[in-house]
Amino acid sequence: MINLVLFGPPGAGKGTQSEKLIQKYGFVHISTGDLFRWHTKNETPLGKRIKEIMNSGALVPDEITIAMLKEELDKNPHAKGFLFDGFPRTVPQAESLDTFMKGNGTAIHYIIALDVTEDEVRTRIAKRRTMENRVDDEEEKLNKRITEYFTKTIHVLPFYEQQGRLHTVHGIGSVDEIFLNICKIIAQRYYS
Ligand code: AMP
Repeated sequence: MINLVLFGPPGAGKGTQSEKLIQKYGFVHISTGDLFRWHTKNETPLGKRIKEIMNSGALVPDEITIAMLKEELDKNPHAKGFLFDGFPRTVPQAESLDTFMKGNGTAIHYIIALDVTEDEVRTRIAKRRTMENRVDDEEEKLNKRITEYFTKTIHVLPFYEQQGRLHTVHGIGSVDEIFLNICKIIAQRYYS
C-alpha cells in the first residue's frame, strides 16, 4: 500500500497529475474540494453548512473537513492506497491524517508539493474557468483561494519538511515532464 499527498495552489495541475497517478498506481483519489463541491451541489446538510464558505473561497473549518475525510477513508477499507488532493491544508489536518493512517496500520509515504508561481496559477485558473464553469473559480474568489494557499496551506509544508518527508517538484513544464518527476520520487522508495 502506498499513500501520497499532493500539494499545490489552486490551478497548479493537481487534478491532471492526480488522474495520471491514479491510472498508474491504482490510488483511491480523495479530493476534499471535489467532495465539498458534491455536497453543495446535492444540497446535503453538510453542503448547506459549507456553501457560503465555499463560495467565499475560504477554508472549511478543520472539524468539518477532518470528519468528512475520516468518513471517506472508512468507506474504502480495501483501498490499495490513497492519493490525497487538497488535504491537508492546515497542520491540525496533517496531524489527523497521520493519526488516521497509523490507526489503519499504514502511513503517508510520499508528500509531494507542486511548485508553481502565483502568476502561473492565475493564468491557469483563468483558462480552466472558461472550460469548466466551476462556481468557486470566479474572479473575486480566485484571489481568496490563492491567498488561502499562500498564507495558510503553505504552512503545512514546513511541518513535513522538518520531518524530512517533503518532496518538491517544479510545477512548470509539460504535464508528462512533471508526471515523470513525480514518478521518479515514488520509484526511489516504492512500497508494496
Ligand atoms: P479545491 O478544489 O481543492 O481548491 O477546494 C475548493 C474549496 O473547498 C476550497 O476553497 C475550500 O473552501 C474547500 N476545501 C477543500 N479542501 C479543503 C481542506 N482540506 N480544508 C478546508 N477547506 C477545504
